[in-house]
Amino acid sequence: MPETFVKSERLRLLPPYLFAEIDRKKKAAIAAGRDIINLGVGDPDKPTPEPIIRSLQHHVENPSFHQYALDQGSPELRTVIAAFFSRRYGVALDPEAEILPTIGSKEALAHFPLAVIDPGDLGLVPDPRYPVYRSSVQFAGGEPYIMPLVPELQFRPDLDAIPGDVWKRAKLMFLNYPNNPTAGSADLSFFERVVGLAKEHGFVVAQDAAYSEVYFDEPPPSILQVPGAKDVAVEFHSLSKTFNMTGWRVGFAVGGAPLVAALAQVKANTDSGIFTAVQMAAVTALEQYETLTPPIRDLYKERRDALVSGLKRLGWDVPTPSATFYVWIPCPAGLNSTAICSKLLEEANLVTTPGLGFGDAGDGFFRMALTVDTPRLEEAVDRIAKLSF
Ligand SMILES: *Cc1c(COP(=O)(O)O)cnc(C)c1O
Repeated sequence: MPETFVKSERLRLLPPYLFAEIDRKKKAAIAAGRDIINLGVGDPDKPTPEPIIRSLQHHVENPSFHQYALDQGSPELRTVIAAFFSRRYGVALDPEAEILPTIGSKEALAHFPLAVIDPGDLGLVPDPRYPVYRSSVQFAGGEPYIMPLVPELQFRPDLDAIPGDVWKRAKLMFLNYPNNPTAGSADLSFFERVVGLAKEHGFVVAQDAAYSEVYFDEPPPSILQVPGAKDVAVEFHSLSKTFNMTGWRVGFAVGGAPLVAALAQVKANTDSGIFTAVQMAAVTALEQYETLTPPIRDLYKERRDALVSGLKRLGWDVPTPSATFYVWIPCPAGLNSTAICSKLLEEANLVTTPGLGFGDAGDGFFRMALTVDTPRLEEAVDRIAKLSF
């Protein structure tokens, strides 16, 4: 045993944590008693709706739920997910084979490459991105191939720019629509194109739908609406953002039976299911989706309109997001993303997220989260109005 611990190569391969410096400044500012408006957090600020809390309170009393949950998830939850998917997307799913409840979607996204990738395979990951896609490809021994998201293509990757030898080695492609951090969207024809490429080149698509229910215009599609998509695609859903349930840890993966079974096999060797009382609360949430989610969407819409119209009044070129609770803003001329975020923190006590933290292609942008109340967003705009650029 060497005297000093050396961590594994897979951890040493991870990119440095780019938010560390901003985090340090933020903590120092809060400690100094400054009135910080935190627009950095991708976590709903409102509590989970009452009926879901009541449901958990009821089910937590049931001693049969105090034991290990079923690895494949409770049959009630899988049945309710199938009904939800049929109502919301018009897609029929077999609750026995095509649905797997997960401990939130992050763990499932992180585990999925272990089911798909062998050492040396390519995993295609967007840039900017939720960091898990890249690290999970690396953890599985694969090589990340970076797909820049193109602002002019609604923050989709330029599929025509990906070379033939990359397609040959590709085993997995991560997508995330509606997109964090760019708020970009995908339509069914984009998903059709991706499914076609996956079939042609023999790779699997992992579509992260964490924000599928946080929308302000047309409801975003599921990739499984593409005929034949189940052969090549798995979609990862989450109750976290939809129902203000980030702390509860419940989501689900849906797709073709062999793909879902492969993820289930990884998870059977990793975790022991989701607390069944939480799964029963998830049943309540999805059963009441039609009444519980409109107020949540309405609140983000009000905040989005306040922030975007306020920034536009100041002459900022801010696209209006059609989904997610993020506003993705081009940096003012002459500033990169870390510079603008430092300026906003130091001169206006605003915490925002530099695009660089999500990948090199994010560096021309920064992100504001709509996870504070409207008056605070208006206050944020007033503070920005006083700065000079
Ligand atoms: C929040 C988020 C998730 C993870 O949510 P869970 O709480 O793990 O279900 C996944 N993807 C993106 C892009 C997110 O922003």
